[in-house]
Amino acid sequence: MTRPVVTVAERRPTRQIHIGKVAVGGGAPISVQSMTTTKTADVEGTLSQIYALAAAGADIVRCTCNEPEAAEGLAQIVPRSPVPIVADIHFHHEMALAALEAGVQGLRLNPGNLRKESEIKLVASEARDRGVPIRIGVNAGSLHPEIAKRHGGATPEALVESARRELELFAEVDFFDVKISVKASSVPLMIAAYRLASETFDHPLHLGVTEAGPPPAGLIKATAGIATLLAEGIGDTIRYSLTADPVEEARAGRQLLEAMGLRERKGLDLIACPSCGRAEIDVIGVAAAAQRALEERQIPLQVAVMGCVVNGPGEAREADLGIAAGRHKGHLFIKGKIVRVVPEDQMVEALVAEAERLVAEGVEARLAAAEAGAAEEAEADRRALLEVKGQDANRSGERIARIRELVAEEAGPASAAEGRSQ
Ligand code: SF4
Repeated sequence: MTRPVVTVAERRPTRQIHIGKVAVGGGAPISVQSMTTTKTADVEGTLSQIYALAAAGADIVRCTCNEPEAAEGLAQIVPRSPVPIVADIHFHHEMALAALEAGVQGLRLNPGNLRKESEIKLVASEARDRGVPIRIGVNAGSLHPEIAKRHGGATPEALVESARRELELFAEVDFFDVKISVKASSVPLMIAAYRLASETFDHPLHLGVTEAGPPPAGLIKATAGIATLLAEGIGDTIRYSLTADPVEEARAGRQLLEAMGLRERKGLDLIACPSCGRAEIDVIGVAAAAQRALEERQIPLQVAVMGCVVNGPGEAREADLGIAAGRHKGHLFIKGKIVRVVPEDQMVEALVAEAERLVAEGVEARLAAAEAGAAEEAEADRRALLEVKGQDANRSGERIARIRELVAEEAGPASAAEGRSQ
C-alpha cells in the first residue's frame, strides 16, 4: 500500500509574475533569492559570486544599484548571469531608471526611502513599458516616518499600509506586476505582518527576516519566521538575510524548501550560462543533450555548459565539471581548471565520459590526469576569441553610454555626485 504524501498547508493563491525566466507566485515552485556582497561595479567579482550563489541553489540574485558605476556594471553582468538579476534601489529613483536601462529583470524599491510620488510613478511607468516587475520592499527599520508615527511604530498594520500606498501609486500608472515584502528583524512582528499582507493582497509575497545576523542565531531566526509562514501556505519566494557569505543564504534557503517538501531534491545539477553575444554554440541544445545523457547515467555532480571559453570556466568555477565552447572546440574543465580540449562535435560525449571518470576516480585524480597543453590551448583560444569579438561582445558599451546620459538628465550634476559618494 502506498503511503499518502504528507505536505505542509496548501499554498495560498497569488497572482503570478515573472522575474526573467523565473515564475513567482500562482503555484510556481517557491524560489530562493540571495544578494551579492561585492561592489556591483566590480563585474568579474560580482559574476563570480552570482555563479557561486546559483550553484548553491539561488534562483534569483539581487545586486545593489546605488551609484552610476553600479548601473554600468549591471549592463555587463545581466547578459552573463545564469539567473535573473534584481536591482536593489534606495533613495535615488534615477538609479532605478539606470538599472532598467542596464536590462535587469526586476527592481526592488523601498517605499520608506524613495518617497516622491512623481519619481515612484515614473519608475513604475518605465518598468511597465519594459515588462519588468517591481518588489515593494517594506522594511520595519526604514518605514515611512509619517506612517510609523500614525501607527505608533512599526506595527504589522503600518508595514502593510506602506505597501498598499505604493501599490496605489503604481495602479495610477496601470502597473500591477508586483511582489511584496514586509520584513522585520523581529520574528513575531514579521510573521504577523506577512499574515496580514497575505489577507490583504493577492500579489506574490517575498519572505524574509531582515538583518537576521550571523549563523547560527541568524539561521534560527530566519528559519523560524520563514518556515512558520511557509507551513501556513504563505510565501512565494524567500531570502535568508545572514551576516555571512551569501552562499550560506542560498544554501539555507534551498535546504529549507527541500526539508519542507516544497522543492525537489537535486541529483544531477546541470547549470548552463544564459548565452550572450560571446556564445560560440547553441547553449540550449548542448545543455539539453548533456542533461539527457547525464540523467540517464544518474551522475550526482554539478555540471556546467558554458557558451564561451572567454568567461565560461571562470564563471562556472564552482561546478564540479564543465565544458566551454570556442573556436569549434569544447574545453573541458574541472573546478575551473582546463583538463582537455576536444572537437566541438564531441563535446557532449567527452563531457559524459569525463563525468563518469570523475565520479569513479575523484577530483584530485582527474586533475592529475589533465592532458598536457590543454590549459595553454584554451588560453590561446580565449585570446583569439577576444581579438575577434573584442572586449564588448554584449554591446554593454551602448547601454552604459545611455545610462550615463540618463543619470545626468534625471539627477542633474549635484545629485549624480551625491549618488557616487554613497
Ligand atoms: S557565452 Fe560566455 S560570457 Fe556569455 S554568458 Fe555564456 S559563458 Fe558567459
